[in-house]
Amino acid sequence: MSKFIFVVGGVMSGVGKGTATASIGKILQSKGYRVTAIKIDPYINVDAGTMNPVEHGEVFVTDDGDETDQDIGTYERFLDMSVYKDNYMTTGRVYQAVIERERNLGYGGHCVEVVPHVPEEVINRIKKAAEKAKADFTLIEVGGTVGEYQNVLFLEAARIMHMTDPKAVLTILVSYLPIPSKIGEMKTKPTQQAAQLLNAAGIQPDIILCRSERPLDEPRKTKISMFCSVAKEDVISAPDVDSVYEVPINFEKENISERILSKFGLKAKVKDLKDWRVLTLKIKNLKTEVKIGIIGKYFTTGDFVLSDAYISVIESVKHAAWYNNRKPNIFWLNSEEYEKNPTKLKELSEMDGIIIPGGFGSRGIEGKIAAIKYARENKIPYLGLCYGMQLAVVEFARHVCGLKDANTTEINPKTENPVIHIMPEQEKLLMDKRYGGTMRLGAYPCVLNDGTISREAYGTKSISERHRHRYEFNNDYRDRLMDKGLVLAGLSPDKRLVEIIELSKKNHPFFVGTQFHPEFKTRPLKPHPLFREFIKAGLKSRK
Ligand code: GLN
Repeated sequence: MSKFIFVVGGVMSGVGKGTATASIGKILQSKGYRVTAIKIDPYINVDAGTMNPVEHGEVFVTDDGDETDQDIGTYERFLDMSVYKDNYMTTGRVYQAVIERERNLGYGGHCVEVVPHVPEEVINRIKKAAEKAKADFTLIEVGGTVGEYQNVLFLEAARIMHMTDPKAVLTILVSYLPIPSKIGEMKTKPTQQAAQLLNAAGIQPDIILCRSERPLDEPRKTKISMFCSVAKEDVISAPDVDSVYEVPINFEKENISERILSKFGLKAKVKDLKDWRVLTLKIKNLKTEVKIGIIGKYFTTGDFVLSDAYISVIESVKHAAWYNNRKPNIFWLNSEEYEKNPTKLKELSEMDGIIIPGGFGSRGIEGKIAAIKYARENKIPYLGLCYGMQLAVVEFARHVCGLKDANTTEINPKTENPVIHIMPEQEKLLMDKRYGGTMRLGAYPCVLNDGTISREAYGTKSISERHRHRYEFNNDYRDRLMDKGLVLAGLSPDKRLVEIIELSKKNHPFFVGTQFHPEFKTRPLKPHPLFREFIKAGLKSRK
């Protein structure tokens, strides 16, 4: 039977519950236990696929094709394992299941009520995910902040689970302690109130993780312990760090694993966070930079630029840069600027490599195509991810094959040269307005052709990578594009779908576009092979 650890947030959003959850998982894993992690997203949306990435962050795709919250990506990277559909739930998904069951007379004619039937469904899902993963520990991150309306039913599930089996359930409150600049002192009151709000939901936190700019000092530990009824050793200092991969190491300085295990009457079986300690030390000591430009639409809210929508791409660049002994320096480049002022494209020559990540719609597209042309002609390493691959095909068709109006039908449905077009099975879905969860999603196999950059990078012929798209390479143009030098490096096993395009190494140091999203499979100690080689090529061309 699994033990269950709920991770809930206090004071405000964005305090790093996802990283805290993943870090606790990592630590317990390093003590010899099997761990899994679940994310609860309190939105009505059935999945993250229909949520605005500016507000909600990246849509992370699992192997089994679920469109989930970016925290699932954090769990995969920290725990070095695939996390599946069962480990993600939203309010919408839970209600949908309850309503479906009611329609099938699954409640045997009883009145179906918000309580207990909704928390019961939540509990069933948690237990199912724990069982499937054969986990010793199941971490459950409850999205949102205590005291808000949206996550009450999930807290209710935590309360019921604890009441039913107190020895098997713990709650960790991740809180925030502000240091107002005019006062210059770390304040504990918001955390005290967060603990009270949690108490009002019938839950007593067992451990409080105190996020702040600086480490927590003794007087504040004492105060939080006293006012929140938590032992002083269970008040854990969690100051800001440069790299998220330091968080598990910092938590361990406060003996968090010993605290958690002893509450369950357990002991560490082994002790091993060594490889992570080595990595974080290495990161701290890297001096020489690698400059990577990521070209996208700017994701702004008011006066703030948020890069969360590209979190897996960022992590992939970091992991690959560290592997190549470089400090990553990422530049956010706005493709719309290149449309307004093409001379700005020159800034790309400063970069060691350029990435165009996934995207949808027409904003900034011509600027992206101009940037790809610049990278191709000036031999700057280029990595195109999904949309970045499709637009590389459009650019090649236009400027190398002379098909002047070549386009993707996503942008111009009437183009004479639809080099990228909608997948036949997708067309009907769009006509019927069936948008949610209907893209080509999840892991698909791909076969690599010998002698290509990709084949060499992966070191194997058969790979599996995750997809999220509706459009694809139009096979009517295969011959024309290949005649002019486009390399089809990876195809679906039935050869129907073009999954990777490249330029030959003879003509360009590194030019690769993937229809899939390799960024979803990077690991801090095992960078994705394409990112690894992309960075390596960038460093080589600089020399
Ligand atoms: N918009 C493109 C498609 O749907 C690319 C999607 C993506 O980049 N994830 O095919």
